[in-house]
Amino acid sequence: MTDKYEKIAQKMGVIWNEEMRKILEALFNSEETDILLTFNGPYLDRFTAEKIARKVKRPIEEIKPMLEEMARTQRLFSSGKGDNRTYSMFPLVPGLFELYFSNHERAAAEEKETLMVFTEAYEKYYDKGNVAKAFSSKYPFMRVLVEQKALEETVERGKGKLIEVAQDLDVVKNDILPFEQAKILVEKARRVSVMDCACRTHMKIYNNGKTVNDYPINVCIAFNTWADYVIENGFGRELTKEKLLETLSKAAKAGLVHTTQNIQEKSTFMCNCDRDCCIMLRGLHQFNDPGLLANSNFIPEYDREKCIFCQNCVNLCPMCVISEVEEDDKITIDYDRCIGCGVCAYNCPEEALTMVKKYDKIPAVNTMEAMTKNVSGRSH
Ligand code: SF4
Ligand code: SF4
Ligand code: SF4
Repeated sequence: MTDKYEKIAQKMGVIWNEEMRKILEALFNSEETDILLTFNGPYLDRFTAEKIARKVKRPIEEIKPMLEEMARTQRLFSSGKGDNRTYSMFPLVPGLFELYFSNHERAAAEEKETLMVFTEAYEKYYDKGNVAKAFSSKYPFMRVLVEQKALEETVERGKGKLIEVAQDLDVVKNDILPFEQAKILVEKARRVSVMDCACRTHMKIYNNGKTVNDYPINVCIAFNTWADYVIENGFGRELTKEKLLETLSKAAKAGLVHTTQNIQEKSTFMCNCDRDCCIMLRGLHQFNDPGLLANSNFIPEYDREKCIFCQNCVNLCPMCVISEVEEDDKITIDYDRCIGCGVCAYNCPEEALTMVKKYDKIPAVNTMEAMTKNVSGRSH
């Protein structure tokens, strides 16, 4: 018989197994599962406390404090105040995992045992390919953004034109479009914030408190309503736009890949992802599944004459697709596995790599359209 935890897994759209049972049992007690089961699925409904109390047939005075505690600890999404306050179910990713581990200091201080069960069960669950399978789609949820400075160098070298406002994308599709420029995304945001990266934090906890690499951790960016959420919940820090652009440069310098929602407008976050821990990039290496992340429309063009073989690009490429050609101290790029991030071009000291536009894929206009495409493109 399907028990309550298995039903929650079904509603979340995740693969059910023993590790998932451990995660859900650690995070939700029996009364909380009754609350979760009132929802149809992640973000599908926004219920007030009154409505949830009616659905579980309990007095609102009992339910409201439970909802608030679940919201405070990122087990339930909450928004609004007073009578307009609503609650929604999180998906496992992106949602519950990211916000719980970004707010790891709270979890470590208040519920170390739960944190450790979640950490260990999630790693086993991930390692078996279950997160990748559920997240993968013919229309990936996230998309690679080329580092801004690398794009500006493209323009300086006469290999492209920046378009700030595009009326007809089909006409200008070979130029560098607004949704391809991190700077425009940042400029258009009402509010921006930074928080700890959940994937590297999770791996650090799993690795007994030792980081598995030297990439910066406090570089996970949220915009607008998500910035409001993480700041109000105390684990995100507000940033000026200038500081944010500096943070992005710092991330690219270290070899992190900017990724954002696979949409044209109003993206609510920008990740800075690494090859060892990130649910997407690690997944590309481990499971070779292109449905985890959409490539950018760019590839690096290589000028052999300018290359001094410093090997920065070889060491930093997040996909490990640049290798040395021993006979003549030059490099070669496996374009089949390049994701078009521009980390190589950004970190090349000699202008030997330039990001050039190769494809003209145009993402969905907004989240609603992207989610429809993403869900219908899933194999799970
Ligand atoms: S690795 Fe990337 S996807 Fe994962 S939390 Fe960090 S920044 Fe976000
Ligand atoms: S970073 Fe530039 S100069 Fe250094 S090896 Fe790569 S292409 Fe050559
Ligand atoms: S070669 Fe590597 S670093 Fe350069 S764009 Fe491709 S994936 Fe990124």
